[in-house]
Amino acid sequence: MNFIPYGKQFIDEKDIQNVVDTLQSDFLTTGPKIKEFEDAISDYCGAKYCVAVCNGTAALHLSSLVLLSENDKVLTTPNSFLATSNAILYTKAKPIFIDIANDGNIDLDLCEQALQKDPNIKALYGVSFSGNLLNQTKLQYLKKTYGIKILEDNAHAIGAIYDGIKAGSCQNSDCSIFSFHPVKHLTTAEGGAITTNSEEVYEKLLTLRSHGMIKTPEMKPWEYEMHSLGFNYRITDIQCALGLSQLSKLDTFIEKRYNIAKKYDKAFERTMVKPLYTFNSGKSSYHLYVVQVDFTKLKITKKELFIKTKEKNIGIQLHYIPINKQPFYKKLGYGNESTPMMDKYYEECFSLPMYYSLTSDEQKYVIKTLFEILI
Ligand SMILES: *Cc1c(COP(=O)(O)O)cnc(C)c1O
Repeated sequence: MNFIPYGKQFIDEKDIQNVVDTLQSDFLTTGPKIKEFEDAISDYCGAKYCVAVCNGTAALHLSSLVLLSENDKVLTTPNSFLATSNAILYTKAKPIFIDIANDGNIDLDLCEQALQKDPNIKALYGVSFSGNLLNQTKLQYLKKTYGIKILEDNAHAIGAIYDGIKAGSCQNSDCSIFSFHPVKHLTTAEGGAITTNSEEVYEKLLTLRSHGMIKTPEMKPWEYEMHSLGFNYRITDIQCALGLSQLSKLDTFIEKRYNIAKKYDKAFERTMVKPLYTFNSGKSSYHLYVVQVDFTKLKITKKELFIKTKEKNIGIQLHYIPINKQPFYKKLGYGNESTPMMDKYYEECFSLPMYYSLTSDEQKYVIKTLFEILI
């Protein structure tokens, strides 16, 4: 069996041809493919505006520059990739880590308790962990009641739907971000995007993406003015050409993930392997298939499981190490928050291979090998 990673991209001839066409066109960057890709994403998600950038982390950074001010307190989750809370630190705002609920997402009831106690909390950065959208009813309630800014990190969740509300539609948030890294649902190699329904936020994001520079029709032909400290976070036309052709396959990609999820669910019924949540008519976009195992009841440790699966050419993965316990965050005074759910999650959970080109035989091999090692 060839090595089976937890996630990987799927590139076909059409993707390759689209990239080649753009390489042979006049614009490698700052050309027409960027707006075309942005429009396709905002259409897909049902948001008014989209700004595509060079990666998901840049999307988080630019959103934070627009949404946050220095010293703002921001509720966020320990169960994410580093970039989510790093973006809060980039803007000199202060992350506050809140425990997760049993679906792996930030616990929005605990968020409310924190908001009741501290009027200086200005924002909430939630992650639609593994593709499972944040509870939109609660987000709407928190936004209305406490007037906070909300960012949805939907890096795992493009294509996910919650009660008819699509990921990235920003119905209950100010900004939503996506990543197009190869392990995510669709890829531009490196790449990311922000969606929003606010014209003001959109204009600011566009300016910040390109050095804080503006040009207006009234200016002389050579003139440009800088009004804010921006960056070069642009994405290229080559990447957007790939993104456009990947986006046209997104629903097929997700459909396949649903089938994989259903098969895993069935294989783990009434076993010691507990899915984090089971398949539910397309609510999650299944970026990850996370399972829980109570290692205290087994002869094997989590570390041994990782080593033994790797020996069998299976790349299980851990999403995530709690961010607040990272050495850098500990130096800033984090790490001692009470997060019993996250602690338990970290002890018990891991992600199984889940991607478009995973074959039925490979999936069977993963399931069979997992049970052989655990029992
Ligand atoms: C991948 C990811 C990011 C970062 O995206 P990059 O494109 O790698 O910069 C941020 N947040 C989450 C939850 C992610 O999974």
